[in-house]
Amino acid sequence: MSAQPILRLANIESCYGPITAIRGITLDLMRGQIVTVLGANGAGKTSILKTISGVLDPLKGTVEFEGRKIQSMEPDKVVRLGISHVPEGREIFPFLSVRDNLKMGAYIRTDQHEVAADIEKAFNYFPVLRERQDQLAGQLSGGQQQMLAISRALMARPKVLLLDEPSLGLSPLLVKEIFAIIRRLNAEEGVSILLVEQNARMALETAHYGYVLEVGRVVKHDTCANLMQSDQIREFYLGHG
Ligand code: ATP
Repeated sequence: MSAQPILRLANIESCYGPITAIRGITLDLMRGQIVTVLGANGAGKTSILKTISGVLDPLKGTVEFEGRKIQSMEPDKVVRLGISHVPEGREIFPFLSVRDNLKMGAYIRTDQHEVAADIEKAFNYFPVLRERQDQLAGQLSGGQQQMLAISRALMARPKVLLLDEPSLGLSPLLVKEIFAIIRRLNAEEGVSILLVEQNARMALETAHYGYVLEVGRVVKHDTCANLMQSDQIREFYLGHG
């Protein structure tokens, strides 16, 4: 595995008006890896992803993607460079069919044959979407909408996938299914993944490396194997001492 960071945040500070959401975050996503960001509600996890995808302008610091500085770039340019964001709450188009949602994910592409092949590939990862391809996306269950949101992000052929709380609101069985596919996407497609999660156990079992956030700051970072052995992490994030 190459030890080059594909994405590097250095001293990022981002605010919503007077509210400082992240306070000097430095974080590396190595090419080919899954990196998770853990933390309680309001710790700043979502704001990190929004800063990378260009939705939130940082006040300070740099975001480097493949060695190029991209902080404050327009969100559609960030997608074109190869970073796709699956936001919390999914934000699919409820009044479009499943298939049309996938096509919307490929809006930056002109290679229509390959787009069709990638829709097939998405259906192979998520067979239920093939069955429901003509249904309105708003009629899908929560888990199916999450599958569609991930598939739609993949339609841009990203090198980096930003996943915000993919397990939110899903049954334990579906959570397992989604995380198994996240692992497959990383292993089979080589996509590097930054995974924000409140389900610390699943995230630590899935990712290679993890950052723990408290009130906008990184308080600990290590391999997930080491984090799972840490008394502090076991007590506060895994529910046993
Ligand atoms: P959650 O899991 O609840 O989404 P999080 O770790 O992702 O939490 P963020 O959503 O990044 O945290 O929020 C970080 C801080 O920024 C919090 O204090 C939050 O209240 C604040 N914040 C987030 N979004 C906004 C917004 N749109 N306007 C004002 N403050 C915000």
